[in-house]
Amino acid sequence: MKKDFTFLFRKEINEYDFGEDHPFHGRRGEDFLNFLKEKIKIDFPILKAKKATDKDLFLICEKEYIEFTKKYFEAKNKGEEFDGRFFFYHSADNLPIGKPGKIEEAARYIIGQAKMAADLIMDGKFKKVISIGGGLHHAKKNFGEGFCIYNDVAFCAKYLIEKYGLKRILILDTDAHAGNGTLEYFYEDERVLFIDIHQDPRTLYPGTGFIEQKGSGRGEGLKINIPLSPEAGDESYRMVFEKIIEPVVKEFKPEIIIRNGGSDPHFSDYLTNLGLTLEGFKMIGKKVRNLAEFCGGKEIDLIASGYNLRVLPFAWAALISSLIGMEVEIKEPITMKKIRDPIEETKKIIDEIKREFKKYWKSLS
Ligand SMILES: [Zn+2]
Repeated sequence: MKKDFTFLFRKEINEYDFGEDHPFHGRRGEDFLNFLKEKIKIDFPILKAKKATDKDLFLICEKEYIEFTKKYFEAKNKGEEFDGRFFFYHSADNLPIGKPGKIEEAARYIIGQAKMAADLIMDGKFKKVISIGGGLHHAKKNFGEGFCIYNDVAFCAKYLIEKYGLKRILILDTDAHAGNGTLEYFYEDERVLFIDIHQDPRTLYPGTGFIEQKGSGRGEGLKINIPLSPEAGDESYRMVFEKIIEPVVKEFKPEIIIRNGGSDPHFSDYLTNLGLTLEGFKMIGKKVRNLAEFCGGKEIDLIASGYNLRVLPFAWAALISSLIGMEVEIKEPITMKKIRDPIEETKKIIDEIKREFKKYWKSLS
């Protein structure tokens, strides 16, 4: 049977690891794929992408940033000191703790996967391509932060615009943290509708991602930040999809969807305070699958985040299995604590977004 989806991964991506005592460890991708194979019994193809070249990276970064990042992480991987202006190019989140993996090289493979995903879909080979290790949405043009050094979400959209001339791309960021890097790349760009659902930035890194950040110039009204209160759970997410995301996406009529974000909105995540359960992750997968029907099923999925490694493979599997149209039973591995899900607060946020955006979108008036 011909599959309409494929995964992209290679072992080199395990090297995207900031060291033993750092929250971002490298083996997540491989652990997830083993989990799918052994526990969920999903049979799936995995393809290997090439490493991004400097020329590829120039689409999203400047030369000096790339040169510094490459040299710095290569030295650290060898256990050597590196004399240079680290804090000019990166925030403290990206400081390795102990001995890191070959991070810069792994990041190039992740960019290579974004490129390959775009090509595979645009050539009609697959409808959905899942890049394991992707979604490094905090990285900016010349500044790395939030465990991200090269932004593959931004690369993917820019590449689709540059090579294929696409004019209407939806980036849907469902990571618990706001995609500040991605937002910055496309703030004035009318070709990218960026919808970002995340924990209220007053309570979580990166501290931006407010409703008022709605784009400027030709991009005004096309950047929709949805900041949810801490503990927002399945019902809040369902409401936001039904009242905001679905109507706007239908009106926008994207040519392709890029979704990013891993398991960090789960209630047990160590770095965040949201309240999604595995059922919520399944719902997101299913809703994205349905939205992709408006663009011939075309969807690129970039997944890497999650800071409770016990729950990570379960949450990724819940999301991805429904995204690819497979009903599988996945039980919560962690006993649920009482989740508040602040529905009334979510309703207020939805009303505020509607007020703010109804002049741009008929479907919100
Ligand atoms: Zn995150």
